[in-house]
Amino acid sequence: MSVPSLDTLLTWIKTESPTDSPAGVNMMMDLVVAQMSGAPVTVERIAGELHGLGDVLILRAGPRTDEKPILVMSHLDTVHPIGTARADLPIRIEGDRLYGPGVYDMKGGAWFALEAFKEVASKGTAARPIVFLVTPDEEIGSPLTRPMIEDLGRRSAYTLVTEPARDNGLIVTARKGVGRFDVHVEGRPAHAGSRHKDGRNAIHEAARHVLAIEAMTDYARGITTTVGMISGGTAVNVVPQHCRFPVDIRVETVADGEALKAAILGLKPHNPDMKVTVSGDMNRPPYERTEGVEKLFEHAKGLAAEIGFELISAPRVGGGSDGNFTAAIGTPTLDGLGIDGDGAHTLQEYGVISSIAPRQALMKRLLETLN
Ligand SMILES: [Zn+2]
Repeated sequence: MSVPSLDTLLTWIKTESPTDSPAGVNMMMDLVVAQMSGAPVTVERIAGELHGLGDVLILRAGPRTDEKPILVMSHLDTVHPIGTARADLPIRIEGDRLYGPGVYDMKGGAWFALEAFKEVASKGTAARPIVFLVTPDEEIGSPLTRPMIEDLGRRSAYTLVTEPARDNGLIVTARKGVGRFDVHVEGRPAHAGSRHKDGRNAIHEAARHVLAIEAMTDYARGITTTVGMISGGTAVNVVPQHCRFPVDIRVETVADGEALKAAILGLKPHNPDMKVTVSGDMNRPPYERTEGVEKLFEHAKGLAAEIGFELISAPRVGGGSDGNFTAAIGTPTLDGLGIDGDGAHTLQEYGVISSIAPRQALMKRLLETLN
């Protein structure tokens, strides 16, 4: 198997592509289209422009049969603003570590998975048709691509996701579900001195809801609720009219997700003069380790052993990914097949260079053997 030189990956990392920069993301999509040139791969490109996003690529290869395909999914957007590579997270190699924005989450994994895909396509060794979906919006919860992911997932036999490996190469077979909500409390403004009694303090009301929401955390059941930001008020001497805060929830089961959603959407004002408005939803359902997932994992584990490394599955992880959508539909899904490393979403982000070759080999063998 040919492991391409790191130069291409370096170019990918230099091509900064935060989700909110459609131009940057589209340059990444151009690089993928160029990468596929000359290979027997059909390229469908769907514009993301109307949504303020980069484009989507659907690449197809393998036998032209009616069999259900293998779906591979990678996202090429990152959380790092343009300029990060020049300032806060310079691209550099230190020993076995390649530092740079998005190398770990998930350009490293996307790059070598596409190389494996191209090789299997060129050699004609695919076990069944392969659909490779490359997306521009994963880091904001996939608003544009979720319907495509669910549609392709429903029609696929397996889904492989190139999110980064966890803690020394662990693979992902279960993820928590994620929900996001926005709470807006409206009170009544008043002068803090002369008209205090007339005021209805929105921050005071919001504080009670924050406490109630944080109290929904239940570690034993794997439920966490977080109010990570809050804003309200206009001046120190004004009883505030408005207060807003977002809520992040993580759950292990669909039922817990529904129960929490109902509780948060159902928040009622403690003071009848206040107005509480809540919007939001579960944006990624939990990815549970089903029998189908188990079988797929065991198969991958066997392939990894042939290649020469041990594939271990991570304990259920808190972060959601597009794999949650396909797993929730019931398509056996393996995630965390990307590059090893650490520091996702931070300025210490790096990928482990020596993890590329064995993991690329594993992706190639999966595409050749999942029949
Ligand atoms: Zn990611």
